Amino acid sequence: MRRTVFNEDHEAFRETIRDFIAAEVVPHYDAWREAGQAPREFYKKLGELGVFGIEVPEEYGGAGETSFKFNAVITEETARAGVSFGGSSVHTALCLPYLLKYANEEQKRRWLPSFVTGDMMTAIAMTEPGTGSDLAGMKTTAKLSEDGTHYVLNGAKTFITGGVLADRVLVCARTAPPTPRTAAAAYPSSWWTPRARATRSAASWRSWA
Ligand SMILES: Cc1cc2nc3c(=O)[nH]c(=O)nc-3n(C[C@H](O)[C@H](O)[C@H](O)COP(=O)(O)OP(=O)(O)OC[C@H]3O[C@@H](n4cnc5c(N)ncnc54)[C@H](O)[C@@H]3O)c2cc1C
Repeated sequence: MRRTVFNEDHEAFRETIRDFIAAEVVPHYDAWREAGQAPREFYKKLGELGVFGIEVPEEYGGAGETSFKFNAVITEETARAGVSFGGSSVHTALCLPYLLKYANEEQKRRWLPSFVTGDMMTAIAMTEPGTGSDLAGMKTTAKLSEDGTHYVLNGAKTFITGGVLADRVLVCARTAPPTPRTAAAAYPSSWWTPRARATRSAASWRSWA
């Protein structure tokens, strides 16, 4: 049965992605699996291909697409070839919506252009050594410094996809001790922070599976 969900533009994009996978991913994939992650340059290539800017508004360097169909094409083509684009789906599907919804205009102008090119890779840190599905048990705190100029994060995160290579990490943290109300909130607070000290991302290893 022929699908009608994709149009000519999607199919042209599919050809581009298929060729890219054959040339830039398949020949290196075993080595990346061995290393536990794709190299940083690979994400720059995805940026050059336009993969990171699909849903970013045009004024920030993206294509301004509002549907998920182009990303669905990527999912289909990586599955077809039995490969993955590493942590790129966290960059586009999880971190980007936060940026588009919560960043102010100055922040969007500062971050989105390099988000699109792959010069700034992102990750999201929710899970902690003692907290997985139930984020209400999260212990990481964010406290305002005494001079009120910045927040100090204190805690540990684990299983962060792309965490080793990320330039900026969206960190979920508490600003106050849990109460019955805040304990029920899935995302008490989120901070956009430069990558601190990441060791090895267990999740990025497991993402290859
Ligand atoms: C490939 C991969 C990539 C990941 N990437 C990220 C990332 O980028 N950022 C990030 O923050 N985290 C990431 N994670 C972590 C992921 O979000 C957690 O693994 C997930 O939230 C589950 O937490 P947990 O492993 O501690 O399991 P637990 O929460 O301890 O759950 C264990 C089992 O108990 C069940 N369970 C839990 N609570 C209940 C309940 N109340 N009632 C009934 N059953 C329950 C669960 O369904 C599960 O079967 C990643 C994980 C994987 C595997």
